[in-house]
Amino acid sequence: MAAGHDVATFDFPQYDQPSSYFVTRYLNGDYGQADEVGPYTSSLFYALDRFEASNKIQAALEAGQVVLSNRVVPYQSYLLHHGAIHETMFAPANDLNFYDTNHYEVELLLDALHTKIDLTGATIFANVMHCPTCARMLSRTGIAEFVYAQDHSDGYAVRLLEAAGKKVRRIVP
Ligand SMILES: [Zn+2]
Repeated sequence: MAAGHDVATFDFPQYDQPSSYFVTRYLNGDYGQADEVGPYTSSLFYALDRFEASNKIQAALEAGQVVLSNRVVPYQSYLLHHGAIHETMFAPANDLNFYDTNHYEVELLLDALHTKIDLTGATIFANVMHCPTCARMLSRTGIAEFVYAQDHSDGYAVRLLEAAGKKVRRIVP
């Protein structure tokens, strides 16, 4: 995918940065289970970590680079990568469901379509396994391999991709 493109890669959470402090503690379970922390609070942890990287991402975009982001939480990340979406964001303020935003996988496929990047045989690297909806969509593309670190949906998405004949590998950092 990088052939012929100037690519800047950003990995989230940025475990090597102080901005990932709360995310790391949250993922370690230091604050309790996910439902005890709640989506509003945990979204903040991720948002702060992305905010830390936002200037670098903006600079890369302004330099004409293709920004490849390794797994982020919806909404703010899409605003960073695809500023145009901001204008079509109709979700009410503080609505963390973001029904009118896409998961990044959708944007990935749209971008590939529009820029005529052939994903046949490609490998996707993701911190967190794709959600089942995205996995089903991705299973119908030419993407050959999925590499991830953390599970999602209790292995459902993995089974779905494997049933579609995709190679799935878990890498534990
Ligand atoms: Zn998804």
